[in-house]
Amino acid sequence: MARNSEAVCRTCRREGKKLFLKGERCMGPKCAFDRKGYGPGMHGRTRRRKVSEYGHQLREKQKIRETYGLLERQFRRFFRVAQRQKGVTGDNLMAMLESRLDNVVYRIGFANSRRQARQLVCHRHFMVNDQIVDIPSYILQPSDRIRVRDRSKKMAVIHDAMQRARDAKMMPNLELDKAKMEGIYLEVPNRSEIPFEANEQLVVELYSR
Ligand code: SF4
Repeated sequence: MARNSEAVCRTCRREGKKLFLKGERCMGPKCAFDRKGYGPGMHGRTRRRKVSEYGHQLREKQKIRETYGLLERQFRRFFRVAQRQKGVTGDNLMAMLESRLDNVVYRIGFANSRRQARQLVCHRHFMVNDQIVDIPSYILQPSDRIRVRDRSKKMAVIHDAMQRARDAKMMPNLELDKAKMEGIYLEVPNRSEIPFEANEQLVVELYSR
């Protein structure tokens, strides 16, 4: 399976924003963005360029794509599907990204980051409606139930993530039964419910060039 193997902290530094790609580390003093808040590479400190309109669109697209952990080809495929759906393309795109199984595993609190969620899903630790699903890009439908498999319920990494997530506010389209280690994807979220600051309209403009 293709995946992005670039050092993820470089991504935050390049985008000039904390994207919280590494879970626990992002909250602590080891966060590379907090320590080196300038761009990556030899000229990261000195480079000051006027960013064109195209540059803004590109950076916004990269920020969204990297946050959800998609490669360019996968992201484009999502965009094309979003374009074919009724409604606002940018909103459709964000709703689809939020409906991915790896994202929901992360949002519910079974993993510390989307990367970790992706790995846990690939390693067959979750069931959707009582079927094992090991495809991180699996799109959930309203009322789908996501459950930690019985054999995985003792995994420290999942308990650790649930412990850390306990104080975080759950998105209104998700529900969690901690005792059963089971969550429900109640409905497709509205854009206003998605806690991610991004201007997806710039992605629409970029791909419409
Ligand atoms: Fe980004 Fe997290 Fe790395 Fe900090 S630790 S730079 S927030 S991925």
